[in-house]
Amino acid sequence: MELLWSDFLNSEWRDWRGSGQTEDRLDSGEWYVYMTKRWDLPPLGVERASKGAESAGAEKRESASDLPSETGTGSVIEAAAWAPRELPASAERDAMRAFRQRLLRMAQTLSEGRELTEADITALNAVMSAGPVTRRLLPAEAGGRSGLRLGHVPAGGGTAQWMAEVAASFAATAAIGDGTRVHFCDNADCRWVYYDDTRSRTKRYCEDRTCGNLMKVRRFRARQKLER
Ligand SMILES: [Zn+2]
Repeated sequence: MELLWSDFLNSEWRDWRGSGQTEDRLDSGEWYVYMTKRWDLPPLGVERASKGAESAGAEKRESASDLPSETGTGSVIEAAAWAPRELPASAERDAMRAFRQRLLRMAQTLSEGRELTEADITALNAVMSAGPVTRRLLPAEAGGRSGLRLGHVPAGGGTAQWMAEVAASFAATAAIGDGTRVHFCDNADCRWVYYDDTRSRTKRYCEDRTCGNLMKVRRFRARQKLER
């Protein structure tokens, strides 16, 4: 299962086929477009919306009964067109890289069944406090008894808000998830991180049809070599 924080960590891409190729997707405009859509993150390139724009946006959204999802924020920030070629400033990307490095170590900590350190918790809290949320009563997704749910809507924009959302997603895993379900793909060339939500907790590869198959073929060939 992919979570916001694991998807963020996987922006450091490695070729699972073992070519040694890597790609840092924090330097790819398409990645930002993908993340905005997939996780409903606030559009980048827009700083905190002004008070007036905020309520106007919210009214527009409600009257159109266009429901914001989970972390939806389109309601408070005027959606800005983020072209696939645009990137946050290089200092902001460096800050994201530093945060990703720290998050990677924390994910390893959880996956090894260890507890986060005080310093880890302080760092997460600092990142989260830079991206405040607003509580809001929202229409429930299907199945809600009252038809309503209490949601948290990001109050700002920019990469600080993105990192806060990622940190909150990780904090939720640390607090209510099972850290030992955090897993790095067993293919050493891949190391894709995911949350293993299978009942048997035996998911060894990010995907069976890619890394799973590749490893099966390699094991088969290694066996053949031995038998020859
Ligand atoms: Zn993999």
